[in-house]
Amino acid sequence: MKKDDKGYVQEIQDQEDDFSRWYIDVVRKADLADYFIVKGCMIIKPYGYALWENIQQALDRRIKETGHQNAYFPLFCPESLLQKEADHVEGFAPEVAWVTQGGEEPLEERLGIRPTSEAIICSTYAKWIRSYRDLPVLINQWANVVRWEKVTRLFLRTTEFLWQEGHTAHRTEEEAQEETLKMLNVYTEFAENVLAMPVLKGLKSDSEKFAGAQKTYCIEGLMKDGKALQAGTSHNLGQHFARVFDIKYLDEDQQEKYVWQTSWGVSTRLIGGVIMTHGDERGLRLPPSIAPYQIVIIPILVKKQREEVLAKVRELYDKMKDTFRVKLDDNDKFTPGWKFNEYEMKGVPLRIEVGPRDLQKDQMMVVRRDNGEKNSLPLANPEKQLGDLLEDIQQNMFKQALEFREKNPSRTENFEEFQKVMEEKRGFIYSPWCGKASCEEHIKDRTKATIRCIPFDQPSHDTSCIWCDEGDTRWVYFARAY
Ligand SMILES: [Zn+2]
Repeated sequence: MKKDDKGYVQEIQDQEDDFSRWYIDVVRKADLADYFIVKGCMIIKPYGYALWENIQQALDRRIKETGHQNAYFPLFCPESLLQKEADHVEGFAPEVAWVTQGGEEPLEERLGIRPTSEAIICSTYAKWIRSYRDLPVLINQWANVVRWEKVTRLFLRTTEFLWQEGHTAHRTEEEAQEETLKMLNVYTEFAENVLAMPVLKGLKSDSEKFAGAQKTYCIEGLMKDGKALQAGTSHNLGQHFARVFDIKYLDEDQQEKYVWQTSWGVSTRLIGGVIMTHGDERGLRLPPSIAPYQIVIIPILVKKQREEVLAKVRELYDKMKDTFRVKLDDNDKFTPGWKFNEYEMKGVPLRIEVGPRDLQKDQMMVVRRDNGEKNSLPLANPEKQLGDLLEDIQQNMFKQALEFREKNPSRTENFEEFQKVMEEKRGFIYSPWCGKASCEEHIKDRTKATIRCIPFDQPSHDTSCIWCDEGDTRWVYFARAY
């Protein structure tokens, strides 16, 4: 990390001037991640990994509460297995990394490194599932996957990334559809309540859906540069993979039937989403629910009363450490000013300052990262008030992000207006579409905007497509996307 003469963290790029530069500055200066000599790969640094662990734990709890169990499947997939499903392999073919040699020995069959685990897991389910009594199978795995990327964008597009992928098998079509929507709702609740990231949810158009899926549902967030980020997907796989991998069960009526399947996932991309939803000119802003440190305590140390201040902040830390994720920074090598800057960059939601004058008044200064507000709180038993403040920050960050999305909502049936909005303020545009892939393609060519989702609630009146003027439309959200 570069420091200027005073030892302060150097300014980061303005969001307004160059958003992608701002993003990289924040990722690197907040110590979240780094590049590696292998192009496309990312090193997740301890602070970034702590953030991921908090995201993971909060989501894992929800996955288990909805009846799923975790398991782990292998990294390698034999080519013949991956080839079994034509659409699926075609969708992923350009991105698969292959192992052709083990030690000194060339392999008889090359092994693909999983770009996703449908083939690996479905071929296993074909062995596990025999009877209706074996259903449903509700399994999730936390793993890494590899998709060979030509461009690296830390957390957003990397060759190897971390994710969770749920893979379920059901007895009926209705049950699979119910599961698909249940997990979409789990993701929505998680994104909004934990990540403080408002999302739109709905169905993907056919051209945007997952390779081999019958239906793909998604949640989409809006980043501060007006571009959308797909934050999670839930697929109804129908019986497609069951037929390809021969996953059959003997039903109560003694008939052999194919299972109905779903798969759903979110990845380390969410970290990119959190950065671009909440970050500002001073760096990262983290929602308290996932912040590696919810509170940082910084003593103001001067010669006089140095020991007293230190004793007090250590006592404060001991009292708080079981209730909050708290860091005491009593390091002497940096000035308090440098530290303020540093923890603002790192997005720590609350900063506590204690100096000799605070001791005299038996109080401490508490500064909020979300809005810069300062409050003085009594040094004795501040836990309840700090807890309330953190809760308020969590709510406020969601509110701010929602206000940003709802600012000048764009709804248009006129293509010229559509183009103008996409060129200027961007954001989501709500417009009617006839359902034809060719119209979607034309709009993308001219505006770089794609259909992000087809929301569940549709206005009842019919109108004409924003591109071709034909009727039988549905209203969809368009945006430029990551
Ligand atoms: Zn059309």
